[in-house]
Amino acid sequence: MAWNLDIKGVLHPFSALKQGFKRPHTLNYPLEKRQDVPGYRGFHVNSLIGCVGCGNCQDICMNEAIDMIEPLAEINPKNASGLVPRIDYGRCCWCGLCADVCGPGSLRLAGDAIYVGPDADSFLYMPRDE
Ligand code: SF4
Ligand code: SF4
Repeated sequence: MAWNLDIKGVLHPFSALKQGFKRPHTLNYPLEKRQDVPGYRGFHVNSLIGCVGCGNCQDICMNEAIDMIEPLAEINPKNASGLVPRIDYGRCCWCGLCADVCGPGSLRLAGDAIYVGPDADSFLYMPRDE
């Protein structure tokens, strides 16, 4: 029986060692924070003082991810409906259409996307105010 020495197969596992000298692709969170990338679509932000409660964001959302609800904080006195959007991130695909159609420009997608909640079955998100 002839032996075929597979040199590449023998040396290949050692090539993994070189990864130990490379810069890691992960971040030491929370000590290190991810840098904002221009145009990144993170969580929604809604300026309650600018939102007029028109519901355009809800109407355009093809995933039906937006409910208009009563806010807990002070809102724009010109908010006709008295309602502001809440996002269901179980449905949202971060297309950004809701922000595109927001006439006053109060709704936008910000750079952060970190969320901690008590209910793993629900991801209803009230856009933070700014
Ligand atoms: S980003 Fe797109 S899917 Fe998400 S809430 Fe807005 S319109 Fe709906
Ligand atoms: S976030 Fe913009 S589009 Fe949505 S209800 Fe408020 S003003 Fe209208």
